Amino acid sequence: MSKMPALFAGHGSPMNAIESNPFSEGWRTLSRQLPKPRAILSVSAHWYGHGTRVMTQAAPQQIYDFFGFPKALYELKYPAAGAPEAAGETLALLTPPAVSDEAWGIDHGTWSVLVHLYPEADVPVYQLSIDAARPPAYHYALGQRLAPLREAGILIFGTGNIVHSFQGARFDMAEGHPWAYAFDDYIHRCITERDHDGVIDYHQAGPCARQAFQIPDHYYPLLYVLGAAAPTDRIDVFNRACVMGGFSMTGYLFTPEE
Ligand code: ZN
Repeated sequence: MSKMPALFAGHGSPMNAIESNPFSEGWRTLSRQLPKPRAILSVSAHWYGHGTRVMTQAAPQQIYDFFGFPKALYELKYPAAGAPEAAGETLALLTPPAVSDEAWGIDHGTWSVLVHLYPEADVPVYQLSIDAARPPAYHYALGQRLAPLREAGILIFGTGNIVHSFQGARFDMAEGHPWAYAFDDYIHRCITERDHDGVIDYHQAGPCARQAFQIPDHYYPLLYVLGAAAPTDRIDVFNRACVMGGFSMTGYLFTPEE
């Protein structure tokens, strides 16, 4: 099997799972250029907490981890299988050791995007949790450790949002605040210039870095993907936009050069 891409998506509202809008259309377009991996390893903003855990279930539950959304969203089924074998390979790569987890499932950070990227739910999915107590460099280093999985047919998928500020949220506003664009543009420049230190040490962006998020749960998945990316990968940018004041939807695809 050929080497798999690494992918970061800005997931935004759970409603993107059931709406046809420029972002879900962007994922549908992207899906046409994605290979079919052996499994997908998702690093989701919504599994953020204590320690580094790897989901090992053969049949993970789908988690509806949001409140007050329309019934149609709770009825959406994404019945992907788990990937215990790939999870075992992942555990073997990680130091300090990660913990095997049987309690979590496929959360909406994962399925709200995969429902468009792999609508048949025919690729096994497992997740890696984000240790909230660790600094950015730790998450980037874990991404580097995961890089060999790409050679083993596994697509590394980070799902979060580069700008994610409920403090700056304006639900009556279609576009983003100027600081949201400033931070999103700063990260875009770092990634396209392959300046990963600038992403790890994101305060270099200036004052906009303090406004971009108050909790880094949606930012850290990007660090795993960059850690797993190779300097020779082709970089594609998709869904580049800021919305509702304080959110960025920008995504990055890292594809091995032929
Ligand atoms: Zn989210």
